[in-house]
Formats: sequence, C-alpha cells, structure tokens
Amino acid sequence: MAAKGTHVTTLNRGFALTWLGHGTFRLVTRGAKTVLLDPWVEGNPACPKDQKTFDKIDVMTITHGHGDHMGDAVTLAKKFKPAVISNYEIHQFLSKKGVANTMPMNKGGTVEAAGLKFTMVHALHSSGIEDGGQVVYGGEACGFVITLEDGTRIYHAGDTSAFSDMALIGELYAPDIALLPIGDLFTMSPREAAVAARMLKPKWIVPEHWGTFPALTGTPDMLREELKKQGVAAEVVALRPGETLS
Ligand SMILES: [Zn+2]
Repeated sequence: MAAKGTHVTTLNRGFALTWLGHGTFRLVTRGAKTVLLDPWVEGNPACPKDQKTFDKIDVMTITHGHGDHMGDAVTLAKKFKPAVISNYEIHQFLSKKGVANTMPMNKGGTVEAAGLKFTMVHALHSSGIEDGGQVVYGGEACGFVITLEDGTRIYHAGDTSAFSDMALIGELYAPDIALLPIGDLFTMSPREAAVAARMLKPKWIVPEHWGTFPALTGTPDMLREELKKQGVAAEVVALRPGETLS
C-alpha cells in the first residue's frame, strides 16, 4: 500500500482511500465508485483545502450523529444525491431536512449500494445530533464493514471504545483493513486500539480521530508501541490528512 508522497507499503487491490482528517475518509473503489465515510469537511480543521471538493459521491455512510462526523451530510447529500446509509434515527433526521435516497438500517444488517456491501456493526459511543441549539436523539453509534468489488473488507470503526464483541466482528467479517480511532478522550486510546486489533485481526490499521485537536493525544507511534507490547502483528499505515492509500 502506498501513500501519496510517502511510501508505506503496496497492496495493489485497486482502490484509493484518502484520509480527509479526523474520522472522515474518501474511498474510490476499483469500479470507480466514490464513498464518503462520515462527512465532515467544511468545518474540519484537519481537512486540506484541496480535499474539500468532490466530483461525485455515490454512497455516504454515517456512523453517528455528532457534528464532527455528519456536519456536512445534509449539504453534500443534497448536492451529490448519494445513497446515504445510517441508522434509522439519523435517516429520519436527514429525511426531515430534505435528504432523499436514505437507506436506514441497523446493526447486523447488510445493504448493497453502488455494487458494494455495507454491514452495520456495533460501536460504543453516543450519538446526539445538534440541531438549532437542541440535541436530537440520533440512535446508537455504529461502525461499518464495507466489502469492495474484489472482496476486500474495510472496517470503519467510527468513534468507539474497545469492546469484547470486536472479536465477533473479526470472526464474522475478517476485515483486511481497520480504520481505528486512537486519539483518546472521546474514543479509544492507542492501548485500547491495540487490544481492538488483537480481536479484529486486520492486516493493516489506518489510525483516525487523532491529531485534529491538541486534546486528542494518541499517535500512530504510540499505537505501534502498544501493538508490539501486546504481540499483535497488524501493520500501522499512518496517513497524514490528504494522503491516499492506492
Ligand atoms: Zn463522536
């Protein structure tokens, strides 16, 4: 797998995964489908300016209701009309705001969109949606396992702590790549992320939800250290915001 600018490692699976900073990723698949994971670009201080525009978005996934994960969902969904995959409560919220093509689902389910499979899995986090000074109930936070055209599976954990049923996600879906939060404070720390990796058994880990604000103290080097300590073999692919695995 290679990151634009810096060599990381080579995977040659025909997709490009760009970290837009914080918990947001743009995935372009072998079949030229664009998936936006957790749409937060405009107000995202970590998102490089040249990464804030899109040619198209075929699918948008939303892990939970917090503004730093779905702050641009309404605007981008209205502009690009992607299939928007989320829990039922976020679907209701978006529908009320005039977003079409929502695909409500819940944990354990799998839906197909743009020829890709999206499985909703558990996460341990909160999910209130801020709307005009009020907090609207946003259902439960979740993660997604995305199965690409060639069968490669990418697990986007969203915001979560480590939990023992990650072993079940590993058993059921055997993700090749895990996008894991490591920033601490609002999500897993590097130590928790290493325990998560032990259960999930991915080949590669892309750290997310770190470095956006000084309060998020976890780093990829701390994760590497913890993986070594715990004897977990996964390789850490540390992207900088705007970098692409291709
Ligand atoms: Zn959150």
